[in-house]
Amino acid sequence: MSLLPKIRTIFNSILCSSANIPLGLRATCGSVRGFSKEIDVTNPHVDDFPIELDENPYQKDKIQCILCKHSIEPDYKNVRLLSQFQSRYTGRIYGRHITGLCAKRQKQVENEIAKAQSMGLMPYTMKLIDYVNDPQLFDPDHPTRPHSH
Ligand SMILES: [Zn+2]
Repeated sequence: MSLLPKIRTIFNSILCSSANIPLGLRATCGSVRGFSKEIDVTNPHVDDFPIELDENPYQKDKIQCILCKHSIEPDYKNVRLLSQFQSRYTGRIYGRHITGLCAKRQKQVENEIAKAQSMGLMPYTMKLIDYVNDPQLFDPDHPTRPHSH
């Protein structure tokens, strides 16, 4: 029996028997006390290594307005939807700070409401009585953003 493997075994037994081994040295031992599983430091494919993820789990959801989220195009014939963006008392079209729409959809909604009103499908000064009790997409009393003025 050669001397070198014997010295190595003795060195390993001393190193692994001590409880106060620094973590950096522990990895040099073939097996470490206190661990339920034996760690093979020579094999890089052990399941103790970090997992590669395809996508970032901390990625925030894309902020979208309710019309973009459901890909709804405002249309002058869809009076029921357009009535959601009109005040039931004055017929005023709610602003972006209340509706929470993006600039593009807000402009589309305003244009389509104007179109529907000019064609006589929607009233100017109030909300259509038929749609007053519809569930609301947003709360006009609690705007999503403070008003810019
Ligand atoms: Zn949008």
